[in-house]
Amino acid sequence: MAVTETAPSAVTTAHAGILRRQSMRESAARTYARSLPIVPVRARGLTIEGADGRRYLDCLSGAGTLALGHNHPVVLEAIKKVIDSGAPLQVLDLATPVKDAFITELFETLPRAFADRARVRFCGPAGTDAVEAALKLVRTATGRSGILAFTGACHGMTAGALAVSGGARDGRVTRLPYPQDYRSPFGVGGARGSELAGNWTENLLDDPRSGAVQPAGMILEPVQGEGGVIPGPDSWMRRMRKITADRSIPLIADEVQTGVGRTGAFWAVEHSGIVPDVMVMSKAIGGSLPLAVIVYRSELDCWEPGAQAGTFRGNQLAMAAGAATLAHVRENRLAERAADLGARMIARLRGLAADHPVIGDVRGRGLMIGLEFVDPEAAGRTRAAGGTRAAEALEALEAAEATEAADVADLPGPGAVGPSPTNPSPADHLVAAAVQRECLARGLIVELGGRHTSVVRLLPPLTLTDEQAEAVLDRLADALSAAERAIHAMHGRREKRVPH
Ligand code: PLP
Repeated sequence: MAVTETAPSAVTTAHAGILRRQSMRESAARTYARSLPIVPVRARGLTIEGADGRRYLDCLSGAGTLALGHNHPVVLEAIKKVIDSGAPLQVLDLATPVKDAFITELFETLPRAFADRARVRFCGPAGTDAVEAALKLVRTATGRSGILAFTGACHGMTAGALAVSGGARDGRVTRLPYPQDYRSPFGVGGARGSELAGNWTENLLDDPRSGAVQPAGMILEPVQGEGGVIPGPDSWMRRMRKITADRSIPLIADEVQTGVGRTGAFWAVEHSGIVPDVMVMSKAIGGSLPLAVIVYRSELDCWEPGAQAGTFRGNQLAMAAGAATLAHVRENRLAERAADLGARMIARLRGLAADHPVIGDVRGRGLMIGLEFVDPEAAGRTRAAGGTRAAEALEALEAAEATEAADVADLPGPGAVGPSPTNPSPADHLVAAAVQRECLARGLIVELGGRHTSVVRLLPPLTLTDEQAEAVLDRLADALSAAERAIHAMHGRREKRVPH
């Protein structure tokens, strides 16, 4: 089902020129642009149209910012209304009717027990700015400096946020195990795995010789997104709440990615019913424009004036777009819709996994879905060896596409090497990358994430229809088969070369 439209050559040339200039002029640190070499020129809902005339189903959604998809009419209307009114567009942190309406709508969506005694602080425009503000807030309020954070976390790219993220090191941050079923650090998932993760945390805090720095707060994602779509179990969330409350440690819930209906509840903390002390919000709250806030228990509000500031905290267009988005998600019960549709998509993907051993795990919550790719034949081999095999697979993918010589009937059968939650096969990021590339060839944009960049992530808009969901899953299944054919072709070539 590859996209077949043939673009006029002038258009193709312009498209190629833009991509070429991008690779020559933009930083080596560019990210999405490397794996998604497209040039979006128009977009609506789930669909992006490229400069080459091709259409793509966008399941990246601006890294989760587009709760309503691209250019939703209610968002455009809200933006136009502000522009037409002659209101100032940038007002630092001054009060405006637009901001007042945004705060009212935001508080309307929050759990009552939290909203009733909360303060809001507008931060610099990105999620990472709000994380910095939250860390500074709890440090100021408690007079302590340590932070409890979790393995695999992603909280942003500025120094403080990076320090509490999984890949970084900072003497003030104590790293705790995030529970997970598929690659459980305890060798056991489910309720027992959560319990052990909780025991670890409790033990560390109560051990006077644990080496942990006195914590000013704990920061967690209710579902780890960039870490590989790992939902924190509700029982574990409640345990973290109890452990922190018992020890007067403020709990910060980072809802930058999980908020605004994404996981099947308006805010992901609602699944467990916990009330955090601080919530960090960005991405979808700006209705596709940059906006970030923290909302926190008023008792923590012991900042001096100017203790946390920044120029860009008054983006009126983002507040208007955000308020319209929040209201639309709330009024149309899109969180419930995400829960229902997400569960059906996960069920279908699990069916697919049963027939495709390269899918080690399918997991998620609501419309935050991940498929972890593995090398099912690499059990007992080193990860490096698995990586080599995967590199060959990519090479073979290109060869197979060129010759179309692979025979689907010879693929490994269902359950040939089944995924095991206690002994999973090595992660295979190159196969995941191959699947992403085959998806793009079929007009489907997906994201990669996870500890080993081996998780294909789906973050479609909450407005996704059943038919669109089917189209997404059909393209994904087709892309997966293409990637597998390449692996099979590579094995065939190797067998011919090495007689048994
Ligand atoms: N927190 C979480 C949970 C995130 O997923 C991200 C980014 O993906 C951030 C914070 C940082 O947000 P930003 O990229 O807007 O700085």
